[in-house]
Amino acid sequence: MANIKKIAVFTSGGDSPGMNAAIRSVVRTCAYLKIDCIGIYRGYEGMIEGDFKPMNARSVNNIINKGGTILKSARCAEFRTKEGREKAYRQLRAEGIDAFVVIGGDGSFTGAMIFNKEFNFPVMGIPGTIDNDIFGTTFTLGFDTALNTVVEAIDKIRDTASSHNRLFFVEVMGRDVGHLALNAGVGAGAEEILIPEENLGRERLLESLKRSKLSGKSSSIVIVAEGDKTGKNIFELKDYVEENFPDYDVRVSVLGHMQRGGSPSCYDRVLASRMGVRAVEALLEGKSTMMVGTIANELILTPIEKAIKGHTKIDKELIRVSDIMTV
Ligand code: ADP
Repeated sequence: MANIKKIAVFTSGGDSPGMNAAIRSVVRTCAYLKIDCIGIYRGYEGMIEGDFKPMNARSVNNIINKGGTILKSARCAEFRTKEGREKAYRQLRAEGIDAFVVIGGDGSFTGAMIFNKEFNFPVMGIPGTIDNDIFGTTFTLGFDTALNTVVEAIDKIRDTASSHNRLFFVEVMGRDVGHLALNAGVGAGAEEILIPEENLGRERLLESLKRSKLSGKSSSIVIVAEGDKTGKNIFELKDYVEENFPDYDVRVSVLGHMQRGGSPSCYDRVLASRMGVRAVEALLEGKSTMMVGTIANELILTPIEKAIKGHTKIDKELIRVSDIMTV
């Protein structure tokens, strides 16, 4: 057992639904195990400034259902410098903090890994991002909630699309990965799904739309991930389709930041609760520089270095299912 008496928790980088549930879990696990817990506001920025707040089991009442993060999040350029990290280390020592749990994405994990190497300070990561782009876990916190948000939005767009015989391009978040676009596309019954991992080509899109029309479809939904390589952006894609199908009434809907908000799904709440418990227990077992993940519904620890460097793979089977569904 490591000699850890005080653990800090914070959220960093892009926020995601379920972060509050994870904070709650870390705080309550500390309370249960009679370890002091400190919340750090605004990620690494707050760490450098010493923006700390002691947390007890009651500090996290009624937050399991809340989107965003009560501890706020931030991007902090100073933490990328050695001087910045030294300041952060001094603040942690002055407060008597022995270890921290960081809830964030790969950037936040990179910062934690460097910090651990420099100061031999125990750190543990919980993956919070709607992109689901972290190696070492089948699900990141917030992915399931974001999927449901996107599917709900597309269902609404479909109502208006079919009333007016329109073709809708819907842009979904995901600069480098298409997990959200692909899963939401299948869930919402999209005609075509354009993702960064697969360069399907604009010709294929036209072919697909032609087929849809011939098979009697009067409206269509095409999901485009932000990072799709087919067109430069979704509006250019719209222009391209309109040039080739002058009779199509094409509209664009960019879902944007609403995808990051909202009350977390039950799945994300349960996942956050499990990950928080495991993160604290792992620190107490003397483990460090690991990320808590879930594979085949089992909690597993992956070295942060691997989680950062590894790439997630797009689900080829799901691409096939999507193709079959759009017959
Ligand atoms: P995310 O965690 O969502 O991927 P970012 O990439 O913005 O978000 O990273 C969050 C924060 O982590 C950054 O603002 C910075 O403070 C810290 N960070 C990211 N990369 C590094 C790095 N190479 N060295 C030190 N700190 C880093």
